[in-house]
Amino acid sequence: MEVRGRFAPTPSGRMHLGNLLAAMLAWLDVRSAGGKLVLRIEDLDTQRTSPEYARQLIEDLRWLGLDWDEGGLEPDYMQSCRTAYYEEAFQVLEKKGMIYPCYCTRSERMAASAPHRDDGAVVYTGKCYHLTEKEREALEREGRRPAWRVRCPGSTVVLEDGNCGTYAENLACDCGDFIVRRSDGVFAYQLAVVVDDALMGVNHVVRGRDLLCSAPRQTWLHQVLGYQPPKFFHTPLLLAPDGRRLAKRDRDLDMGALRERYSSEELTGLLAWYAGLLDRPEKVTAGALVHQFSWAKVPKNDVVVCLS
Ligand code: GLU
Repeated sequence: MEVRGRFAPTPSGRMHLGNLLAAMLAWLDVRSAGGKLVLRIEDLDTQRTSPEYARQLIEDLRWLGLDWDEGGLEPDYMQSCRTAYYEEAFQVLEKKGMIYPCYCTRSERMAASAPHRDDGAVVYTGKCYHLTEKEREALEREGRRPAWRVRCPGSTVVLEDGNCGTYAENLACDCGDFIVRRSDGVFAYQLAVVVDDALMGVNHVVRGRDLLCSAPRQTWLHQVLGYQPPKFFHTPLLLAPDGRRLAKRDRDLDMGALRERYSSEELTGLLAWYAGLLDRPEKVTAGALVHQFSWAKVPKNDVVVCLS
């Protein structure tokens, strides 16, 4: 089967070194298998994202020598233009009786005695699942607008990540019913990403390890919606020397600063070194890495970067 991968950046800022590592590995995964790469712009939340950042990230990817076969700034590949598909999937879940409104405010959710996951998220107790019709009406009268959650089964989803190995999660205990549509009507990432990956025929998902904990939810949603889940490959995160994850707000390591400091070949070499594909950082093009790429070389753990 042809490998169909994707890179799905959120245009909420300039890409940083960690985003570039994930993009390069997604590109190498596809190119080394002779497959196709889709570039999808995850601008679901139009408040937090901008077309200007989307244009900029496309220019930055090109500068780095990464190309794609489909997508980019075409409406069909921009989440802000794909609401109808998410609506359809939402209705499928609704018809199955799996969706319910949740009126909890953020502070109510945090105050609940549910445990926190490793990633800091709260496991939702299912409180609003048990509301009676009367209680719902009373909350509506108070002017509360609900978010929409999907009811999770108490079963364990086990997946074989192509880089991190076996990863399992019991959806009810480790995650809890999760939001698929926000109270302002915007569809949630978890639903949108599953619908998009399925409709775009994506069978390889390569992305940062911060999203590993989303993979069981997404695998399960694929199954519930009648799709074939993709194979996941979660890439190492890049950490600052103090152990902090690099983020878009680390301006010193965003693409603007990196392009002033490095040539495209130097930056590619640095990324390839972090990815275990080179013994030392040296100038290289992405194209020259295709034949030596193997997931066996890519570190399973996070990588500390020191760029002084
Ligand atoms: N849009 C997400 C991000 O930029 C990535 C989502 C995904 O790869 O599933 O972090």
